[in-house]
Amino acid sequence: MNIPALFAEIHASLPNVNTGRVADYIPELSKIDPTKFGVHATTVDGRQFSYGDAAEGFSIQSIAKVLSLTMAYQRLDQNLWKRVGVEPSGTPFNSLIQLEADRGIPRNPMMNAGALVVCDVLLDYLAEPQRELLAFVRSISQDGTINYNEAVAASERANSDRHRALIEFMRSFGNIDNDTDRILNFYCHLCSLEMNCAQVSATFLFLANHGRSPLSGQQIVTGGMSKRINAIMQLTGFYDEAGEFSYRVGLPGKSGVGGGIVAVLPGNYAITVWSPPLNPKGNSEFGMAFLEEFTTRVGGSVF
Ligand code: GLU
Repeated sequence: MNIPALFAEIHASLPNVNTGRVADYIPELSKIDPTKFGVHATTVDGRQFSYGDAAEGFSIQSIAKVLSLTMAYQRLDQNLWKRVGVEPSGTPFNSLIQLEADRGIPRNPMMNAGALVVCDVLLDYLAEPQRELLAFVRSISQDGTINYNEAVAASERANSDRHRALIEFMRSFGNIDNDTDRILNFYCHLCSLEMNCAQVSATFLFLANHGRSPLSGQQIVTGGMSKRINAIMQLTGFYDEAGEFSYRVGLPGKSGVGGGIVAVLPGNYAITVWSPPLNPKGNSEFGMAFLEEFTTRVGGSVF
C-alpha cells in the first residue's frame, strides 16, 4: 500500500472537518496557523511515511505527559500507583472535581492533576529536572535538536492559577512534597516541548516495540510496563473523550492542546498527526477524523 498517497487521499476527503478552535487559554498557542496539517508514521522496522507539515515543530503539550509518566514509572515502579490512579476520569483535562472525594489522588496521570503529581515525584529524583527530561527525550528519539519553547513555557507559567490550585489542594491531602513554583516550572517546561510529527513518532516508537527504542536500542521500560503505559493511554489519553477516540480510532494514544495526537499500534507503528483546531473536549478535531479514516482503511487498530 502507498501510505503517503493514502495520507493525501484521506486529507483531501475530509475538507469540512476543520471547524474546531485553536487553544487560546495559553496565549502563545493562539498564534498558530489553524490550517497547518502534518502526519508522520514510523514502523518498528524503520519505515517512515510523511505528509504535509510533518517536519514543522509544534507544541506537544499534554503528549509530553506520557514521557514524564515513563520517567516516573522507571523510578517508582508499582509504588507510583499509590500517588496516582489508572482509571478514566470522564472529566475535562484540568478538572478539580474528583480530587475531594478521591482524597487528593488523581484518577490518572494524563489529566493535569495526575501529571502535576508525576512532576512532583520526579522532582524527588532529578537534580536538574528540565535538563534531565530533555536528555531523556533526545536519547529515546536519537534527536539532539529537540528543545523546549521558552515562550510557550512562560506563557503557560503566567496563566497557571488552575495548576496552582490543583497542587495546593492535593498538598492538603499529603500528595505533594515539593515547592509549588518548582513543580509549576517543571510542568510548564514539560508541556512546552516542541517537536514535529516525525520526532514525536520516533520518540513514541518504544511503546510500539515492547518498551525498547528501536532507534537507540535501549530498553526504556520493561515489556510489561510498556503494556501498562499503552493501556493508560487507551483509557485516559483523551480526557472525557477517551471512549470516543477508542471507538473511532481503536489505538492507544495521547492528545495535546497544541493540536497534536500520537497513537501507537503495539508491535507495528507509531503515528502522529497535527492539526491545531480543537473540538470542545480539547482534542484535535481534524486529527481525530484523520486517524479514524486511516486505521479503518488500513485495518491498523488494536481491535
Ligand atoms: N499545558 C496544558 C495544560 O496544562 C496541557 C493540556 C493539554 O494539552 O491537554 O493546560
